[in-house]
Order: sequence, then structure tokens, then C-alpha cells
Amino acid sequence: MTHDEPDPQPTPAIDAEAVLTQLSAYRSHDAPTHGGSVLSYVYDSGLAELDELAARAAHLALPVNGLDPTTFPSVALMEADLITFGRTILHGPDAVGSVTSGGTESCLLAVKAARDRWVSAGAGGARAGGAGAGDAGRPRIVLASSAHAAFHKAAHYLGLELDIVPVDPATGVPAAADLISSLGSDTALVVVSAPSYPHGVMDPVAEVAGAAAERGIPCHVDACIGGLVLPFWADAGGQAPAPWDFAVPGVSSISADLHKFGYAPKGASLLLFAGRELDLARYFALTNWPGYPVVNPTVLGSRSATSLAAAWAVTTALGPDGYVDLTRRIVTATGEVSRCVEGIEGLRTLGDPAGPLVAVVADEDVPTERRVHPHLWAAACAQRGFVLQGQPALHQSDGTLLPRSTHLTITPATAAILPALTTALREAADEVRGASVQLPADLPVPDPAALAASARESGDLDLTQVLALIETLPRETSAGLLGQFLAAFTAPRPAP
Ligand SMILES: *Cc1c(COP(=O)(O)O)cnc(C)c1O
Repeated sequence: MTHDEPDPQPTPAIDAEAVLTQLSAYRSHDAPTHGGSVLSYVYDSGLAELDELAARAAHLALPVNGLDPTTFPSVALMEADLITFGRTILHGPDAVGSVTSGGTESCLLAVKAARDRWVSAGAGGARAGGAGAGDAGRPRIVLASSAHAAFHKAAHYLGLELDIVPVDPATGVPAAADLISSLGSDTALVVVSAPSYPHGVMDPVAEVAGAAAERGIPCHVDACIGGLVLPFWADAGGQAPAPWDFAVPGVSSISADLHKFGYAPKGASLLLFAGRELDLARYFALTNWPGYPVVNPTVLGSRSATSLAAAWAVTTALGPDGYVDLTRRIVTATGEVSRCVEGIEGLRTLGDPAGPLVAVVADEDVPTERRVHPHLWAAACAQRGFVLQGQPALHQSDGTLLPRSTHLTITPATAAILPALTTALREAADEVRGASVQLPADLPVPDPAALAASARESGDLDLTQVLALIETLPRETSAGLLGQFLAAFTAPRPAP
């Protein structure tokens, strides 16, 4: 008798080409990720070989699970190299920390560490009553109105209250005295930006960090966008920013995104702490369950090592000198873009940007009919192939109005197409000068599902109207609509 041969198991038929063709078709709907015509979201070094390197490094790390660096020591080695790089350029010889998935996660963990330190120090325990009903005993974050939304999100997720300090609408900068006078025994963390995302201007880091240190309060510098470009700004011929990194006494943590001006693909940010105490407070560890011992330095459990590897490869290949070279292109281009805007009747730049971010507002010094509405301008620029980012006006707690603006982030790739960009900026302004955005007086609250359906259909969305609605509706209403809109936009589509 012979054994029956087992039936061969079927092998899945994989038609890679067909799958990739479909993905390419999906990708063809996207805004261009290279070439510098999208002035937010993407940070293009303009170096094709750097992108190729990142892709190859990511591929090498593709099967790795970053959950356990003892099983996959490459994760620990790459991370240690990146922390070394970060502490060098940020002047924190003893700084420690982690590579996270992005700026939001870095900010979230900085808040988590400060909150847990505040709780374990019993800082709020002695405090009876509180600033308001319902939030008594909750730790608080002091920050400017221009601080990134990630801190609102962190407070929302982690149960903290926000003390939001207005910025000067003319400069985008909060007064150090206002931030400092908000510090109290219930302040778990004060946040300053270097620079702020909306206007690209520096918060008064040294004053605030020093005052916070005197009170035993940690000070986080949010350099998510500035952290990999400001360190090279002066060497690249730009004006040196006011001191803002670990060289400043009192700075206890810094976030710096590798996937912005680090030129790494998305999914990588640095979070550094000046010392071990706060650093350890960001961890989550658990031995009280029947599974494997858990120790997570960041939010995720199992995590990809692809973006870590890509970021490691890009920073290793560029080194500080490579960053200086790329920053040189940005310094020149940012100056040219600012001068171009200043030369356009009806527009001006807001404040004194310290790096590669420019906020453009209507020039109130010219008559209404000669002003340029920054969101109509952005729409007219989009018609010419340049994607700028509209930012709505904001009423601040002191009654002042931060003007609506349009945001430009200048990258090395943008530097390479400056003549086309500046021509578009000028022509777009000529096209819309004097025009205003009209919303119907009996404003019906829009149906987000209908908006999403038409945006899917036509491939574009009237962002000018969306921003006008955000300025008009109560903020809670518009925030709710945004959620419904995105849910509808990303929902499964009916079969064709
Ligand atoms: C981009 C940014 C963040 C958030 O980072 P993500 O990577 O988008 O999560 C936080 N702060 C500042 C100043 C930023 O520019």
C-alpha cells in the first residue's frame, strides 16, 4: 500500500501588475507630491535619489515589527542614531526620546508625559476649587491661540484643560507676560512654537521657558515644522532665529518632524526630552495581564519600521551639511516669495516669519476695492496649478480678530520653480482684486453628504466657501460638519 499523495494546496494567483495599475489609477487623483507646486502637506527635497533611497530603506524594513526592539534590534539602532542626530542639532547633549509616527503623536506624548508627571507630583492635590465648574482638579496646558491643533487634540484625548492666550493680530506673536501670568499650580505644561504653523513666527521661547522653570513647570517647544530647518537657517544665509532649542534654560521637550523639513516620507517625527524623568513618563508598561510583558514608548503597539528606516536613511545620507545646502535654497526662495507678496497691491505678509512659512493677508491699508481676499487669491492660484492653504479668521478671547490668511510653506522643490510661482501669485491677485466672498444671507447649514458627493464627482471642492462657512457658523457646528463630510467622502462608493 502506498500513501496517497496529499492534494496540492492551491496557491493564490497574484496579478501584481493589475493591482498596481489600479493603485496608479487611484494615485492619479492626488495632488502632485513632487515639483513644489503644493505649498503645504508635502516637503519635497527635489532630490530624486533621496526619494529612491527612502523607498529602498523602507523596503528593507518592511517586514519588521517595531513593537519589540529586543527581537528586532535594527529598530533600536536606527532610533538611537536619529536621537543622536536630533540632540546634536537641537543642542541637547543629554537629551533622550523617541521617534514617533508624526508631529501629532510627538505632541500627544509630550502632553501625556507632563500630565503624568503633574499627577505623580501631586501638583493639583492641594488645590481646592478651580478655574471653572467641572474642570476642578484637572491639569492645564498654557499655550498661544496659534499653537498647533495637536495640543487641542491631546487635551481632548488625555483629559486636560487649555488656557489659550491670544496672539497679537498684527504679528501673530503672544506676549510672554500673558503666557507667564497664566502659569499656575494646575499648569502641567506650557507650549511654545518655533515657529507657529499658521503664521511661521516664533513664540517668546526664552522668556516663557525661564519663567516656567522657576515655577517647576515643563516647557515644550513645538518645533514640528521648524525643528529640521531652523537649526540650519543661519548657516544657510538666513537671519538667525531667537534661541529656541535645548540651549535655552527651561526647555524640557521638543518635537521636530522628520517627515516635514527632514524630507523623510510621512510617518516620522522626533520627540526629545531634556532629561530622563519626563522621558520615562511617556512610556506605557504593563505586566498585569496574561500576555507578553508590554512596554510601549509611543502610542502604537505593533508598528511599522518602514518610516523609521526611511527617515534614518534620509538623515544619514544628508547629514547636517546636506540640510544646510537644502536650507540655502529655501532661504533664498522664502525671501523672494515674501518680496513678491509685498509687491502685490492688496496683499501683505503677516508678522516677521522666522523660517520657511509665510502667512498672507489682505492689506487693510488700501481701499476695499483694491484689497485681495486671501482665499479667493488661493482659489485663483489653484487655477494656475499652485495649491496654497487657506486659514479662516479667528476671534480671540480678548476680542481681537486674527485675520483670515493663506499659508505658504516653501520647500527646496518650490525654490526650483520660483518664476512660475511668483507670476501665478501676481496674476491671481490681479484676477480677484476687489472681489469678496458671498454667502447667502439666509445661510442654510450645508448638507455635508451632498458636499462630499459633489466633491467626489467633480474632484474638487470649493474651499473658499468652506472657509467662509467656518468663519460664519459656530465653531462646534462647523467642526461637526467637517467630521460628517470626511466620513461621507471616505465611505465605500456604490458599485458602478
Ligand atoms: C505639522 C505640525 C504639527 C502636527 O504634525 P503632524 O505631523 O501633521 O501630525 C504640530 N505642530 C506644528 C507646529 C506643525 O507644523
